[in-house]
Amino acid sequence: MKFFIKIMASVMVCVMPFSAAAQMITEQNAAPVKKQVELTADVVVCGGGLAGVCAAVSAARHGAKVILVQDRPVLGGNASSEMRMGIVGAKTDELQETGILEEMQLRNFYYNPLQRYTMWDDAIYSTVVTEPNIKLLLNTSVNDVVMDGERIAAVKAWNTNAYTEYRINGTIFADCTGDGILRLSGAKFRRGRELPTEFNETYLQEGGDSKTMGNSILLQLRKTDVDVPFKAPEWAYHFTDDDFNYDTPKSTIPGVKFNYKRIYHPHDNNFWWCEFGGNFDTIANANDIQFELKRIVYGIWEYMKNHPDGRGKGYELDWIGSLPGKRENVRFVGPHILTQHDVLSGGRFPDVVAYGGWTLDDHHPDAFHKKGRISVEYDVPQGFGIPFGVLYSVNVPNLMFAGRDISATHMGLSATRVMATCALLGQAAGTGAAVAIEKGIMPAEVHAKHIAQVQAMLEDDDCLLPYRWRKVSELTASATMSKDIEILRNGIDRTWEKKDNGVWVAPGEESIVYQWKKPVTISGARLIFDSQLKVRSKRMRKLEATTERVKMPDVMAKKFRIEAFDGKEWKCVFEEKDKDNYLRLRKVSFAPVKATKLRVVVTETWGAEKAHIFAFDAL
Ligand SMILES: Cc1cc2nc3c(=O)[nH]c(=O)nc-3n(C[C@H](O)[C@H](O)[C@H](O)COP(=O)(O)OP(=O)(O)OC[C@H]3O[C@@H](n4cnc5c(N)ncnc54)[C@H](O)[C@@H]3O)c2cc1C
Repeated sequence: MKFFIKIMASVMVCVMPFSAAAQMITEQNAAPVKKQVELTADVVVCGGGLAGVCAAVSAARHGAKVILVQDRPVLGGNASSEMRMGIVGAKTDELQETGILEEMQLRNFYYNPLQRYTMWDDAIYSTVVTEPNIKLLLNTSVNDVVMDGERIAAVKAWNTNAYTEYRINGTIFADCTGDGILRLSGAKFRRGRELPTEFNETYLQEGGDSKTMGNSILLQLRKTDVDVPFKAPEWAYHFTDDDFNYDTPKSTIPGVKFNYKRIYHPHDNNFWWCEFGGNFDTIANANDIQFELKRIVYGIWEYMKNHPDGRGKGYELDWIGSLPGKRENVRFVGPHILTQHDVLSGGRFPDVVAYGGWTLDDHHPDAFHKKGRISVEYDVPQGFGIPFGVLYSVNVPNLMFAGRDISATHMGLSATRVMATCALLGQAAGTGAAVAIEKGIMPAEVHAKHIAQVQAMLEDDDCLLPYRWRKVSELTASATMSKDIEILRNGIDRTWEKKDNGVWVAPGEESIVYQWKKPVTISGARLIFDSQLKVRSKRMRKLEATTERVKMPDVMAKKFRIEAFDGKEWKCVFEEKDKDNYLRLRKVSFAPVKATKLRVVVTETWGAEKAHIFAFDAL
């Protein structure tokens, strides 16, 4: 595995001797204006939205050297402070997505209790910069590929901050840009809506065109006591009631919802419907779309805030975005193309690596300028499975992808595009990429021969896979334990179908004890604490800046220790004493011990009388 920085010969001269630093620099003695840097990694992840971050982190944690290239100054993509879209995914409490996403959300709760968006960016950033196997390039836009036959040998990128041209060599490339820049490799892709006849997708009312869902710019509000009319810039649209004078019938079809522009009240209104651009190429026309969206968003806020019926009273505009969030552009083609039917039938794939639960939520390309219904949502089975085959290219062997550019039809994508699902897809792609690197093979071979390993790794990393449960460790399976804690061996690390699946322990008084007939060697433990998946405020769905602080899930362990019994006495092998535990999944390792018993002792919770634990595996 290689991971090195090669500064090209032309750049060496730019390292100025210290004595020269005092001199004034002119064109005579200046270093080249642009640097050229060559880097090499096992896995090159392009795009640092939630899919790209989860792909990079999972590949790195499984041993691959990773370079993550993100064209913005922050990570998070549409979830970042630049866009401020709240994360959604599956709709039920029990199916809330875990893995790296939940880890970042809990980190955010701990370090950013006021839930300020820019600090949420840094909770994501912390997750990346603390990974020794990741080199992060922010402000760096991938703009070319170098091919070696049918494989990608390198990507080229430009750092706008550091005036640096990169050539980044890699073994596996993951396109998590949403916009599919690595199409430059000649990878097969689609943009637009399939004809309903192609996959028999009955929910596609129209199709056979290049139209997509549009982009949006969001706004954020603040509650106020002072009511001053809002002045929009003169180039903004100025709306009146006549602009919204059309029928808005509710759907009478069970499981189907119609959405309209929500112009009536700012409360609980995330303005996603200020959407435009679906009739154009949302990449080629991105700048013109940005201007149109600014005109719409300022105009909408002026209309609401100054409306004579007082609907905007008590609110003030706190922030308006500049970067239009993109919902859809291209979708790569993999060995499997996920369709409406895959989603509706629950996705019972043997190679399942992720799941969704958001509705088939198709926005009309006319978007804001459409009079009437602008999106239709169709109910889907909660926890529909998504297979590995949507995550790698059918014709470029070392190209993977995750996020909103996966292999899906327009209708299929309408359900998988939400960010919690994209995060799971990213984690699955990164894990698959790491297995490919470890074995020196390509993603297609991982798919054919090693998918069971990828699935087990994902489950071990706290990702739920539908229609199956995690296998507990051999030591856990062979231990003797009291009946009341047997449940910790069922591999279900969450409340499921209302069944608790966990064990409650009072701090300092009770512990979870495993016992073996003969001494066993133990060198670690895997724990799942209950981070209260139903708490949706983890998802940064705040429409207004408040001074209300969020609280850590109170039943989680804040401090705990693990003790081993060597036949004579209990010895502490791991203790979380000086630091707070704020995570749901903890994998701890310690010097191997021979023991006949192992126990976890919670010494403090985040407020509740008892801690709630879903899993405790001896390793
Ligand atoms: C207005 C709007 C409302 C939405 N509503 C919701 C919602 O309520 N909840 C929800 O969960 N989802 C929502 N979605 C969908 C969701 O935001 C996206 O589908 C999701 O962000 C896709 O994740 P991603 O990581 O694939 O892409 P992105 O979040 O788009 O991240 C991709 C990143 O790659 C970067 N990038 C692009 N090109 C390059 C390049 N050449 N080089 C380097 N970096 C590059 C981009 O700057 C970006 O940061 C909404 C989307 C929009 C636009």
